[in-house]
Amino acid sequence: MRVVMKFGGTSVGSADAIRQVARIVAESRREHEVVVVVSAMNAPDLRTTDTLIAAARAAAEGDGEATALAAPRLLDLHMQVAAELVSAEEREALAPELRGMLDYMSDLSRSIAVLGELTPRALDLFSGLGERLNARLIAAALRSAGVPARAVDATGLIITDERYGAASPLMAETRERSRERLLPLLAEGVVPVVTGFIGATRAGVPTTLGRGGSDYSCAILGAALDADEVWFWKEVDGVLTTNPKVVPEARTLPRLTYSEMAELAYYGANVLHPKTVLPLVQQRIPIRIRNTFNPDHPGTLISAEESAGAAKAVTAIKDVSLITVGGPGMLGVAGVAARIFGAVARAGANILLISQASSEQSVCLAVPRAEAAAAVAELRRELAGEFSAHDVEHIDVQDPVVIVALVGSGMRGTPGIAGRLFGAMGAAGINVIAIAQGSTENNISLVVAAEEGDRAVRVIHQSFGL
Ligand code: ASP
Ligand code: MG
Repeated sequence: MRVVMKFGGTSVGSADAIRQVARIVAESRREHEVVVVVSAMNAPDLRTTDTLIAAARAAAEGDGEATALAAPRLLDLHMQVAAELVSAEEREALAPELRGMLDYMSDLSRSIAVLGELTPRALDLFSGLGERLNARLIAAALRSAGVPARAVDATGLIITDERYGAASPLMAETRERSRERLLPLLAEGVVPVVTGFIGATRAGVPTTLGRGGSDYSCAILGAALDADEVWFWKEVDGVLTTNPKVVPEARTLPRLTYSEMAELAYYGANVLHPKTVLPLVQQRIPIRIRNTFNPDHPGTLISAEESAGAAKAVTAIKDVSLITVGGPGMLGVAGVAARIFGAVARAGANILLISQASSEQSVCLAVPRAEAAAAVAELRRELAGEFSAHDVEHIDVQDPVVIVALVGSGMRGTPGIAGRLFGAMGAAGINVIAIAQGSTENNISLVVAAEEGDRAVRVIHQSFGL
């Protein structure tokens, strides 16, 4: 099987963690063709990407020495790991290479301080350095552990547009380049260790894919290489049935569909972002979430295939405001909904849930609490005419409330789920303020008062036997 696997910042945050990574790669390589994608090191007391970005910003403010001051700390961080995991001979080549990259950045910093300007393009050079340092370190650690490996900068693989700081891949070119560069390495039995997070424009100017972008890099390469599976190594066993801080009995889900994963991400579960893994979903490449620190656990497999169980997981979004627009004149008036949503969009508020009964006497929408005031002000402006004509009589805000969502694509066409859900709420004496279910039927959302949120999650988790 061809497997592209990504290790996040904490999974590569210390010598112990990287030792574990080397073990996993050595083990996987016995059975599979492996491509490794790495984030920058996130050590408990030194977050590489944050440090580099802060130094670049300081340079723009006139402090041209900030990078030169951070550079020895970053070099130490990497070379201390090397002291434990990389052979003396390899270290002799690694140290000057990493130092050279940091020196270049220190020089660039001084120029930025003189110019007093940090362009997004220059910032991408700084923020992407952590991945370039780390890929070299990890490739050396793998070689020292007897695994043939080579560090590869994704600037030569992932070709992007010119949106510095949040670039998108040009898939056709990326596919061609990645295959051209990586397939020969795989054929030789060498493990490519590719930098996450970065790419380059057609002209070769380095870009980044946005903060946290290493997941995206991994998905792009998985798709470009037609991987059989793509594995994301994280610090958890997989996707859980709910937040374990609320429900200690939360379990790891063995399987999920892509759409269930997307619903869970939307409703606040800390899983892969749907946009991030789109290249994999489009090609129907199965995804696994696994635990770097518990590699014997099979993790969660995410694919197009439906699996047993109607309801899979329950999540909650906190700090939400429920806005209700109501009045007698909204009945049958075309375009009111469009104007309401338009007004909320202009206010920059993100609509999390919508509900309108067919009597059309009111429209109710949930937005993050921090965005509610602006949304209401814009709604009042938009509907001023309707207010004076008494077609709209009230715009009410209720907060804080919590949206609790029950997710599972097997709920589609399964009667009785809503009955069970509301029965459980009733039996527990929890008042449901609003309800929404999309016609895809893969989630049912309910709004409850903030103080009932955790209890609602626990009751649902228990009554559905999750
Ligand atoms: N190092 C980058 C960041 O901190 C990318 C990543 O970790 O995914 O945003
Ligand atoms: Mg990350």
